[in-house]
Amino acid sequence: MSEPAREWTAMELVKTTASFFQERGVGEPRLSAELLLGHVLREERLQLYLHHGRPVYPAELERYRELCRKRLEGWPVQYLTGEQFFLGRRFMVDSRVLIPRPETELVVEYGLERVSSRSSLSVLDVGTGSGCIAVSVALAVPDALVAAVDISEGALEVARSNARLHGVEDRVRFSRADLFSDELPVVNAGGYDLVISNPPYIPDREWEGLQIEVRGYEPRQALTVPEGMECYRALVSRSCMLLRPGGIICLELHADAARQVKEMLEEKGFADVAVLQDYSGFDRIALGRRIA
Ligand code: GLN
Repeated sequence: MSEPAREWTAMELVKTTASFFQERGVGEPRLSAELLLGHVLREERLQLYLHHGRPVYPAELERYRELCRKRLEGWPVQYLTGEQFFLGRRFMVDSRVLIPRPETELVVEYGLERVSSRSSLSVLDVGTGSGCIAVSVALAVPDALVAAVDISEGALEVARSNARLHGVEDRVRFSRADLFSDELPVVNAGGYDLVISNPPYIPDREWEGLQIEVRGYEPRQALTVPEGMECYRALVSRSCMLLRPGGIICLELHADAARQVKEMLEEKGFADVAVLQDYSGFDRIALGRRIA
């Protein structure tokens, strides 16, 4: 005689899965369990705690188990739930785009802080990926016009969906472009007020050392370049033409690239060049102002 299926409550499942994940070395075990179960039950994490006695039905349990199996293989939680929060807003993600990182939120905040005039702002986001930077800028500055480019058509599809999700599709113009060989869009003749980018900056030689969650699942094109400095060089030199005098360049940095990017900006005549740190104290953001 087969045993009757065990009935689980939401909280029992979270606890059991969290300790199982922990034993197996899964990153952020409890958070992973909460996010995956929340996704299946269509509840926020906090609601799981408020409705801790909620029974989990067999069909839900089956879907949850499938996601947990993938998490054990190394899948990032965000690709399993299909979402990541960025500056407090939900962005849809899948394996065509890099998962937005908290450090990148600072890039947006510092970039906007430096822009002097906030009216009729024109912004270029290079390597938009999920569109998290472009969409966040459009939402932060209601009359901003944003051009966003990426080399990947797949990424642009995701980014367009995110712009629609947040109702800014009329102010964010997406197009495909290769930073190294294509013309970049121009939205007004005077030049951009802000060029912002979180470009691929991991040197190929560091690829093997990255966590399996990153290396096995995130798009390599969004992360690596052969030596490490290629995108910075292209962004700095192209920004001299793309920015209006007084316009700001704001780049997310590989911590090891900080000194070189700073020198590059100074050599090209940028003023007020600064390198700022992230929450962990790493050099993470480079800023400069085009003077003439
Ligand atoms: N702009 C996106 C982000 O910051 C994608 C960056 C990338 O793909 N390198 O998350």
